[in-house]
Amino acid sequence: MSSDDEAEEYLFKIVIIGDSAVGKSNLLSRYSRNEFNMHSKATIGVEFQTQSMEIEGKEVKAQIWDTAGQERFRAVTSAYYRGAVGALLVYDITRRTTFDSIGRWLDELTTHSDTTAARMLVGNKKDLDDIRSISIEEGKSLAEEHGLFFMETSAKDSTNVKTAFEMVIKEIYSSVS
Ligand code: GDP
Ligand code: MG
Repeated sequence: MSSDDEAEEYLFKIVIIGDSAVGKSNLLSRYSRNEFNMHSKATIGVEFQTQSMEIEGKEVKAQIWDTAGQERFRAVTSAYYRGAVGALLVYDITRRTTFDSIGRWLDELTTHSDTTAARMLVGNKKDLDDIRSISIEEGKSLAEEHGLFFMETSAKDSTNVKTAFEMVIKEIYSSVS
């Protein structure tokens, strides 16, 4: 292997967006530390977590950004989006208002990031299936309409969390490699 190959590095910035309390911070803590908090505070959030995975024998790092609760004031700044090559747009399957907000988040993402960014619509809190108000079909069809990947997740019981992040990371990798 030449030294050029060894020096090859992949670091992708991914942002998590969506209304307050949809589970953004818990999706990230589940993925990066395998932790879930039933009483997480909206204002407590790290700037980002870095998580590595291996693709085709290469180490690929994802720098995943979480808001510190500023989405409550619709004040997520352009700096948050800057340089993002991937995004998870999250709603809560039990709260329709959070699903209705996706269009606005998508507009904001499109304004502030590269149009080629890998984007996934995420319906979180899948464990609360008995009180859901958004069907899987509705989620799928919104995703298709906007050309997004789609997945339902549960940060609480871990369903699809790793799969969702890794699908976005693999998509970014395949577009740059
Ligand atoms: P954020 O404001 O979008 O970052 O949301 P948080 O991650 O702080 O979560 C808001 C609330 O929803 C917290 O009480 C979490 O415990 C809860 N929560 C997050 N994800 C899930 C999930 O998958 N299932 C259930 N039942 N609750 C969740
Ligand atoms: Mg949060």
